[in-house]
Amino acid sequence: MPKIRVGVLGATGAVGQRFAQLLAHHPYFDLTVLAASDRSAGKSYREAANWILTEPMPAHLAEMTVQEMSTNLSCELVFSALPTNFAKEWEHQFAAAGYGVFSNAGVHRMDSDVPLVLPEVNPDHLGLLKQQRAGRGWSRGFIVTNSNCTAMPMVMALAPLMPFGPQAVIATSLQALSGAGYPGVPSLDAIDNVVPFIAESEEVKMNTESNKMLGRLNGQGVDPAGIKISAHCNRVPVSDGHLVTVSVSFRDKPSLGDIVEAWQTWQPLPQQLQLPSAPQPPLVVRAESNRPQPRLDRDAGGGMATTIGRLRPCEVLDVRFVCLAHNTIRGAAGGSVLNAELMAAQGMLEAFKAEASHVPA
Ligand code: NAP
Repeated sequence: MPKIRVGVLGATGAVGQRFAQLLAHHPYFDLTVLAASDRSAGKSYREAANWILTEPMPAHLAEMTVQEMSTNLSCELVFSALPTNFAKEWEHQFAAAGYGVFSNAGVHRMDSDVPLVLPEVNPDHLGLLKQQRAGRGWSRGFIVTNSNCTAMPMVMALAPLMPFGPQAVIATSLQALSGAGYPGVPSLDAIDNVVPFIAESEEVKMNTESNKMLGRLNGQGVDPAGIKISAHCNRVPVSDGHLVTVSVSFRDKPSLGDIVEAWQTWQPLPQQLQLPSAPQPPLVVRAESNRPQPRLDRDAGGGMATTIGRLRPCEVLDVRFVCLAHNTIRGAAGGSVLNAELMAAQGMLEAFKAEASHVPA
């Protein structure tokens, strides 16, 4: 299969580095562009990026020159790890110029014509692209977003339980420091501490974005799932891995055994298609009473799996459990790459193949 040329926007940051790592040797994509702010443009990637990942920077990327932001980059798809304000400024411009945009930023996730996709959960929501292109007058470009990193493990855990009719959720997050980017939370706020606030929008996103992903595609957009979600979001002194404790009530009152069976037998589309980044299994269900833990479980499935444990009855709602995922891999860059793999496998990226140079829409 000919590879499609891709670029990373915000390539020097916490999520951008993950993109670089995951795309450096990808079977479908050829990473040809690393772009960032004026502070980095013109420097080698080695010089510009303060590399924070434990595996070394891929050698062939280290010598690449970081590009300045422009809609004239030598690639067909862009993976955006831009901060919200710059995502707002640039992502639309890239899509309008004919690029396929896979965004991590929150800015377009709730637009009614923008798919907010977790490939295991709502791959059919990519159907929104038809009306996105028609409504915005784009013949080739598009914007596809991936989940907020905190909603992500909870939505993965709830998706196989949708047939039981989840009604209400109380979710408390314990979010890693890398979720705030680099350099992120000041060390004197983080060490020996818990900060019971992430951003004004974080708890809102847990509700709205989860209900969109678990909702149903209709002719016009997505009908939200209608689950009442009360979220408490906290920053904790963990490097990577967002852990979420969840209590849920259900219409159909499944037994604990029903729930475990639903999780363990779930074989959604990316796993059926054996996409390169799809973890097998998507959900790792742990029986130990002290799992999941960020340090021990965040790298399950190469950082792409969601680990669930501590399933037990709840005195207030029906059941409760704990779930965990790697925030910069599955909750960010890896989630976006899996979206792109899904589109490629479904023949939705044909217009971007075999392009000698970028052709605007
Ligand atoms: P970060 O570490 O602060 O990195 C920001 C990146 O954006 C850097 O590459 C920076 O380049 C670049 N940038 C800043 N200003 C720019 C400008 N004017 N033009 C072009 N590039 C510019 O942030 P992050 O944690 O990687 O987050 C990136 C995005 O992903 C955010 O929208 C965030 O909400 C989202 N996200 C993050 C996570 C996570 O776990 N961290 C999870 C899900 C989603 P320079 O180095 O040149 O300044």
